[in-house]
Amino acid sequence: MIGSWLLNGSTRVARAALPQDCLLCGAASDDAPLCGPCRDELPTLQRSCPLCAMPSALGEICGTCLRQPPPFDMTVAAWRYAYPVDRLVQALKFHGRLALAPFFADALACLVQGADIVIPMPLHPARLTERGFNQAAEIARELTGKLGTGKPATRLALQGASRIRRTLPQADLPVDERSRNVRGAFACDLDLTGARVAVVDDVMTTGATLGELAKVLKRAGAARVENWVVARTLD
Ligand SMILES: [Zn+2]
Ligand SMILES: [Zn+2]
Repeated sequence: MIGSWLLNGSTRVARAALPQDCLLCGAASDDAPLCGPCRDELPTLQRSCPLCAMPSALGEICGTCLRQPPPFDMTVAAWRYAYPVDRLVQALKFHGRLALAPFFADALACLVQGADIVIPMPLHPARLTERGFNQAAEIARELTGKLGTGKPATRLALQGASRIRRTLPQADLPVDERSRNVRGAFACDLDLTGARVAVVDDVMTTGATLGELAKVLKRAGAARVENWVVARTLD
């Protein structure tokens, strides 16, 4: 059933909560982009490493992270990056389905404990001009708004980090070249001394990009950096 909504391209959906049909099955879904049954069937992560979110039988820190601890302290992922989550992520990023941002934010809000500052993974200004919006910023904005009740106050810093160098798409590169590709790509002008920082992104693949940003945030004083991502690839 997926298809026409994905191919219909670049029309931005209105932010207003209008009755709509489920993007996946076409059933009525009130004001949500997916109906309840389709949402419940999205591929979740089973037990996973708290640092990198890769599978780990008992939910303990995985061998890779034990051998080489990543620059970040935790990764929370709402789903596995697999069908149909991959299509949903692409629908937000490339087809401007902005109604998916609050949907993704809802899923993450149930899983995270809160942070002092939320920073979206920045896009390079040239990429931002091409796309017209930063999908990570859209999710971060919605998510910060949902973290008020019962959790510590969380501040959104939309410009908390910036991309100062344009990099090649990580997906086009072999895994062992990805760290080098993003080295020196980010800057942070905030004083983050002692802050618990959460970085919001749509997809985590090798973690090289999130790792590079975490290093920069720690250099700016962050006491802790968590990744809050919509989807995690497992390969
Ligand atoms: Zn459905
Ligand atoms: Zn790990």
